[in-house]
Amino acid sequence: MLHSWRVPFLVAVTATIIAAIAGVSTIGRNLQHDANDAIAAALERTVDSDTVIVAIDTESLAELRQWPWPRSQHARLLDELRAAGARKIFYDIDFSAESNALDDAVLADALRKWGSSPVILPAFWQPTIDGSAYMLTQPLEQFRRHASLASVNLNPGSDGLVRTVRSSWSIGGFGLPAVFGDDAVPARDAGTEFLIDFSISPASFDLVSFADVAAGRIPHERLTGKVIYVGATALELGDVLPVPVHHSLPGVVVQALAAETVIAGIPVVVPERIALPALFAWSLLLAILFARFSWKTGSLVLAGALASVVAAALYLHHGSRTILEVVPFFVAGGSTFLLSLLVALDEKSLKLLAVRLGLARSEEIVRSILQSSADCIVQLDGRGTIRATNPAAERLFEQSAEEMAGVRINELIPGLFRPVGDDVAQVFHSLEDELHECELVLGNGKSVPVELSFGRVAAVEDPLYIMILRDLSWRVAKERDLHHQATHDPLTELPNRTALADKLDQLIAGDETEVFFALLMVDLNRFKEVNDTLGHSVGDDVLRDVAQRFSKAVGRQGFIARVGGDEFAVVLDTPGDSLSPAAVAEKLQESLRLPLDAGGISVELGMSIGIACFPEDAEDAETLLKNADITMYVSKERGSRYEFFETEHDHNSIRKLGMVGQLRSAIERDEIELHYQPKIDLATNRVHGAEALLRWEHPSLGTVDPEEFIVLVEASDLIQDLTDWTLEQAFRQVRYWRSRNIDGPVAINLSARLLRDSAFPKRLARMMSNAGIDPADLELEITESAVMVDPVLAVEVINRIRSLGTNVSIDDYGTGYSSLAYLRDLHLNSLKIDKSYVMDMEACDNDRVIVESTIQMAHGLGLKVVAEGVESRWACEHLRRCGCDYAQGYFYSKAIPSADFVEWTERFESAPPVSESANDDLAGDALAPAGGRRARG
Ligand code: C2E
Ligand code: CA
Ligand code: CA
Repeated sequence: MLHSWRVPFLVAVTATIIAAIAGVSTIGRNLQHDANDAIAAALERTVDSDTVIVAIDTESLAELRQWPWPRSQHARLLDELRAAGARKIFYDIDFSAESNALDDAVLADALRKWGSSPVILPAFWQPTIDGSAYMLTQPLEQFRRHASLASVNLNPGSDGLVRTVRSSWSIGGFGLPAVFGDDAVPARDAGTEFLIDFSISPASFDLVSFADVAAGRIPHERLTGKVIYVGATALELGDVLPVPVHHSLPGVVVQALAAETVIAGIPVVVPERIALPALFAWSLLLAILFARFSWKTGSLVLAGALASVVAAALYLHHGSRTILEVVPFFVAGGSTFLLSLLVALDEKSLKLLAVRLGLARSEEIVRSILQSSADCIVQLDGRGTIRATNPAAERLFEQSAEEMAGVRINELIPGLFRPVGDDVAQVFHSLEDELHECELVLGNGKSVPVELSFGRVAAVEDPLYIMILRDLSWRVAKERDLHHQATHDPLTELPNRTALADKLDQLIAGDETEVFFALLMVDLNRFKEVNDTLGHSVGDDVLRDVAQRFSKAVGRQGFIARVGGDEFAVVLDTPGDSLSPAAVAEKLQESLRLPLDAGGISVELGMSIGIACFPEDAEDAETLLKNADITMYVSKERGSRYEFFETEHDHNSIRKLGMVGQLRSAIERDEIELHYQPKIDLATNRVHGAEALLRWEHPSLGTVDPEEFIVLVEASDLIQDLTDWTLEQAFRQVRYWRSRNIDGPVAINLSARLLRDSAFPKRLARMMSNAGIDPADLELEITESAVMVDPVLAVEVINRIRSLGTNVSIDDYGTGYSSLAYLRDLHLNSLKIDKSYVMDMEACDNDRVIVESTIQMAHGLGLKVVAEGVESRWACEHLRRCGCDYAQGYFYSKAIPSADFVEWTERFESAPPVSESANDDLAGDALAPAGGRRARG
């Protein structure tokens, strides 16, 4: 409540003070004069006046031809006016200087005839030349004597206009009344300056020409009883004063107006003691009103208030000769209005103003965020036309903001919507709130993957959308990189197994209704040895070289992948005149015809190739891969250049395929074991050691032949583990035999792989010493073909084994090269004649001859001879006759589980087969001789 009146009060006080100060300022005063003049002009009127102005006008001057006139002329006028009965005369002519004595005398006489009082002559003070004092100019004494004097001094105001008159003057102790006489003014105005009422029109005075009066042309009634003002009105006489309202008036008219003002009543200015409180009250009222109304209504109120002030001023001036100074009211009113407005601004608009400035600031912040954002920001209207873009967008689109403005967004992102037919608003709506990926197309046709988020600006009525784009090029590149890594072999840069699977899936699941293609599985034949012997980095180099040669061989004919250590796959899906799978297989074989460089050593690697075709050989990718794999193993087994898949040969192979993995766990789970087939010393009929043969009791497949799985094991790293395992088992066995008085070494079949492992002899030595067995208690059986893979290395490895004291025999003699040359170089212990000759010896003369000559040849080289495959007593006896040292075969026993071996031996030695005539097989489980001849070339 306190607040509600305090503000208007303070406003009113301030406005009143401002108005008061303005009122006394020069500008204020001048404005007030102008206001007063305007009011006077508005109220201009003619009054009923007794005054007649006898004008010394242009016509009078023209009639009398000369100026100054002879004073007799003035005497004539005075006489005429006296004759007409004029009441009073103010003769506004300067008679301070003498003219000619006669004329002066005539005028003095005319004045004398009037008596002293009714004629008033002008006197005036004017400053001395140095400005230090005033000098009174007055009529000559002879005139003065018969007339009254009045001061005609009129002081111009600050604006140079004559507005006021004094009722009397007193300078230097000498006083003079004004023309109208100081006795005419009320006491309060005596001796003071007051405003001449310029609202009185000069037309109120009866204006007659001097010449007319002097010539008696004016009827006397017009002059009788009148107050006569005689003076110069002709412009050329220069007695003209600047005045308000009427611009300029002759001095005599101004004097007449001053006199008329006194008669009409001297205007009174509203005194300050009334004006100021009124001003304050008025301001207060306005302030209260302004506080309630809006500035628009307030300004109407102000206009009304000012209008009523003007009306009041007019009314007061007109009705009661009271001058209301309007300027302070205008100033106060205006001030009140402005102050109230400011106060209102403080409370309402200032807040708004602050908000507005704050908004501008936050707009600035938003703008700078947009400018510096790394994401591209694009403003779109409802039609998808670009309104604005930020610098990041300029960089992405490779266009300036000006170029983009007005362009429809689908020109830059064609996938966004179709220019015709699509409802843009609908499309935009569907894009909101989620991330999208699309391609934008640059001017040069280059396309850039982008992530797009879309939002509608809620605060505006017209649809406005903000689209934020993020360049995904780096991500796509990274993804491509990752994809490449995932689908390529880092060593050879060829596609990997995953890529091959994708490729096959693609082909099989493709749109094509008729799909034909071939899959070639390629396995290097002797790579493992290279790797094991020369180290992995050399192995890597070789693989890279092989990959290059294969890629070149396949060329555009197909798709090549590296699917395992030394396994490659080729897909031939090129339709048309492409090469046949067989031709490609030949090209692959041909590519490795020239030896490869393996760390300075040139090696020749062969390969096995299995070919399976879709859809003939398999209905799906998995089967196709498996069948190609099987076929590859078939090719490996047969030593052929390549094989095509055949349903017949896959049965065994399928079995084999899963085996390698199973065998690994079989070793760990002791599913495999060694059986021992005794060797009989033919001279003593005693057991002389035994050959260890692997037996695998497969949980579902039953007994698996070693010939079946050893090939598989040899193709994998498992061969080393298996060899180690076999040796350990055999060592344990031979130790046991020694404890049970069984003579002779335990014989182990050594895989060809180990013969190419130059580290093997050392490992073997360590194992034997660890097991605490005599190296002579071990015999290693090595096949001819194993030696022939790399004879130089094999000879070196064998000789190092021999130097340990371990026995080495050549196995399956007669099936391979049967080269005597290498037998010389190898320091072997014994030679095993292959069972195929021994078994058929009785029936086949050739075989018998071979057996016999081999025994002789071996003995010639200082080797013991073992015959395996001894199935009959005849064979046994014949071999003994031929001097064969040891016999092994079903005639004696199959391979026996280790647990039964000692018992068997004891049984055998206590009752060995004695005589040549004895027909019974000694060993209960011996088989009848196998029939059938085997042709040998
Ligand atoms: P091999 O070294 O020639 O082994 C002799 C094979 O002839 C054995 O077959 C044996 O059971 C069989 N045999 C023995 N006496 C007779 C007979 O009177 N008549 C006939 N018809 N066969 C007889 P097995 O055990 O099936 O072994 C086959 C091949 O598997 C072996 O041929 C050998 O090369 C390989 N092998 C067996 N065990 C191992 C092993 O521990 N390591 C390696 N690397 N290879 C092994
Ligand atoms: Ca053997
Ligand atoms: Ca053999």
